[in-house]
Amino acid sequence: MQALTFHSPYTIIHTSASRPRLCSPTDAIVRIRFAGLCGSDLHIYRGTEPGPDRGTVMGHEFMGVVAEVGSKVVGINVGDRVGGAFTTCCGECYYCTHSLSSRCINGLLLGYVSSSVGLHGTQCEYVLIPNASSSLFTCPPLISDIETLLLGDVLTTGYHCALNGVENVYGFRKEPMDEETASAKQRELNRKAELVVIVLGCGPVGLMAVVSALYLGVGKVIAVDMVEERVQMARMYGAEGARPDAVRDAVRNCTDGRGADVILEAVGNNSALSLALELVRPGGVISSVGVNNSDTFPFNPTSAYNKNVTFKTGRCPVMSLLPQVMPLVLSKKYDLEKIITHRMKLSDGNKAYEMFDKKTNACIKVVFEVGVEE
Ligand SMILES: [Zn+2]
Ligand SMILES: [Zn+2]
Repeated sequence: MQALTFHSPYTIIHTSASRPRLCSPTDAIVRIRFAGLCGSDLHIYRGTEPGPDRGTVMGHEFMGVVAEVGSKVVGINVGDRVGGAFTTCCGECYYCTHSLSSRCINGLLLGYVSSSVGLHGTQCEYVLIPNASSSLFTCPPLISDIETLLLGDVLTTGYHCALNGVENVYGFRKEPMDEETASAKQRELNRKAELVVIVLGCGPVGLMAVVSALYLGVGKVIAVDMVEERVQMARMYGAEGARPDAVRDAVRNCTDGRGADVILEAVGNNSALSLALELVRPGGVISSVGVNNSDTFPFNPTSAYNKNVTFKTGRCPVMSLLPQVMPLVLSKKYDLEKIITHRMKLSDGNKAYEMFDKKTNACIKVVFEVGVEE
C-alpha cells in the first residue's frame, strides 16, 4: 500500500509499505478515505521532538471504512464509516472510565513507532487500530467524512481547550435577590455571555477553539494570529480578530483594563504562554493545548499566585468528550470544513508538509484524499 513514512527531519517519503494485518481479536483494520496533516506532525517533521523509527507511517488523523475486524470487536462492523481518536484507548481502565481517555494506561499514539514499539500512522491506505471497540466511533449519516476526521483530533482538542477555560473561571456576579429565582441554567448562560475569551493562535486547533467558545455561549471571542488569512477565518466564525501587537489594547478596552477572563493558548511556545499570563485577569484561566517542547515555564509561581490564575493543560480525551462535541457538529451552525484549505494526494506528501510548515499558499489545514473514489 502507499504510505508517507518518516525518514529524517524535513524528509517524509512517499513509499510502498506492507498492509497491516490483525494481530489481536480486539483489532480492526480501517481503509483510509481521508488522513489529516496535523500541527503535531510538524514536531516530528521539524525534529523538535525525538523522531520515531525510520519507516514509521506518519499521521494520526483519519476517517475511513472498516475493512476487517477481529472476533472480539463489539459495535464496529466491516463497512462502517468510522473515525477515531489520535490515541487508542481500552475503554476499561481507570482513566477510560473517568473521562480521561487520553491517559488510558493501554493507550498508544498513532503514527509513532520507537525501537519497534508503537503504532504506525494513518497517512496511508490501511491502518491497524487496537482496542477498536473503544478507539473507533461510527459516524452518523449527518456527519460528513471531513467532520468525522476533525472530531478525531483538532475539533475535539479545540473544544477541550475552550471547555477547560470557560468552566473554570473564578468570579460569579452577585445576583440581586429578585433574580434568585432565575433558573440555574439561565444563570449559567448569563455567566458565559459575560466572558471575554482570547484565542492565541488561529491554526486549525485555535480556530476550532474559537468555534467551541462561541458554541458554549461566550459573549466575546478575540482571535489573535500573525497570519491575516487565519484571523479572517476566525472572523468568519464570529470572533473579533486582532494582530498580536494590538491585542493588549483590545483586551484593555473591552474589560475596563481588568484583563481577559480566559486565554485559550493554541500556539505551543513560551512567548504565547507569557503573553497569556499578561492578558489574563485575576481569577481567570489560561487553557493551554499547544504542544510546548520547552523545559521550563515562562512565569514563576509568585506571578501566577498574584493573579489567582488557573492553568489547565493536557492531551485531549477525544473519546470521553465525543458525546459533547457531536451536537456541535450536528448543529450545523459552523462550516467546519472551511479550515481545510488543501486536499492533496499522498504522492504530494513532502510538498504538503513543506507548505504546512512554512504556512505558504494560505495553508491552514491539509487533508490527504486517499480512498475517496470507492
Ligand atoms: Zn494532532
Ligand atoms: Zn483505558
